[in-house]
Amino acid sequence: ELEEAKRLKTLTKAKEPAVTKDGKTYQILANVSGPKEAIISYDNGAEGVGLYRTEFLFMNRDEAPSEEEQYQAYKAVCENMKGYPVTIRTLDVGGDKPIPYLDIPAENNPFLGLRGIRYCLQNTELFKTQLRAICRVSAEYDLRVMYPMVGVIEEVLSANELLREVQADLNKEGIPFSNKMKVGVMIEVPSTIFFIPQLALELDFLSIGTNDLTQYLLALDRDNNSVAKYHSPFHPAVLTAIQEILIRSKEAGIEVSMCGELAGNPKATGLLIGLGLEKFSMNSPAIPKTKEIIRGMNVVDNQTGFQVDSSIRTLEELKKSIGEG
Ligand code: PEP
Ligand code: MG
Repeated sequence: ELEEAKRLKTLTKAKEPAVTKDGKTYQILANVSGPKEAIISYDNGAEGVGLYRTEFLFMNRDEAPSEEEQYQAYKAVCENMKGYPVTIRTLDVGGDKPIPYLDIPAENNPFLGLRGIRYCLQNTELFKTQLRAICRVSAEYDLRVMYPMVGVIEEVLSANELLREVQADLNKEGIPFSNKMKVGVMIEVPSTIFFIPQLALELDFLSIGTNDLTQYLLALDRDNNSVAKYHSPFHPAVLTAIQEILIRSKEAGIEVSMCGELAGNPKATGLLIGLGLEKFSMNSPAIPKTKEIIRGMNVVDNQTGFQVDSSIRTLEELKKSIGEG
C-alpha cells in the first residue's frame, strides 16, 4: 500500500509542468507506438505525443492496415492523450524496420536505400491511404503530421503535394478534415542541417532524430555491435550538429523539438537546455525524471552554449566529462 501511495504521488508530480527554478517552462512529450502506450505516457505526465511511430501498426501482419483501421488507431492515440497535441510520423519502413508484405527489394545498403519518405513517395497509394486516415482524425483532434528520413527538399515538396491531393479528395467527398494541420519533418539525415531556411518555408516544425542523425553523421550503423563503442550522441560532432540545428531553426523562425533517444537521457537534459532546446519527446518512463531534473535547475546556469573542450581528445574522455561513461 505504501508502494502504491508512493507511485501515485510520483505520478501526480509527473503531471505537473516542467518549470525551472527561474521560471522557464519546457514542453515534455512522449514517443509512442500505439494507443496503449499513449495511456501510459499520459499517466507519466506527457503533455502530448512528439513522435507516434506508426510503423508498428504495419508490422507483424500479412497486409497493410486499411484506412479505417489506421483512422481508428490514430484517433485512439489522440483520445488517450485527452486533447494534448499528437505528432503522427508517416510510415518509416526500410533500414532496421523490414515489413515483408511491402516487398522492398533486397538492397546492399538498406539504411541508405528505400527508407521512410523515400519508400512512401514511390508507393503513393499506401502513403495517400495513411494521409487520408491522418487528415480525417485532424478534423477532431490537435494532430500534426511528420515525414521521416527526408534528405532533399524535393521530398518535402512531393509529400506536401500528395497531402494537398488527399485533402482535395476529402473536400470533394464532403469528409471533414482540418486545413490547419501542422506539417513537419524529422531532422535525422545530416544534409537537412544545411537547408533549414528552405524547410521553414514549406513546413511548420522540425524534430531532431538523434538516433539516425548519429548513425548518418558518424557513418556508424546504429545496430551493429562491432562499432557500437563509437556510436554516441555525445560525440562532439553530433552535439555541434544539434547546436547548429537549434540556432538555424531559431533564425528561420521554425519550431523545433527533439525526439531521438538523447532527449530522454538525464545526462543530456542540462546540456540540451543550454543549447536552447525547449521541446523534448521521449519514452514515457523517462518523463517524470526529466521533469524533476528541469525543476531543479536554473536556465541561466546552463546557457553557456556548447563548445568542444580542446583538452578532451577522445570520445571516452568526453563521455566521462559529461558523466555518461
Ligand atoms: C531517430 O532516428 O532519432 C528517431 C527518433 O526515429 P527512429 O528511432 O524511429 O528511427
Ligand atoms: Mg529515425
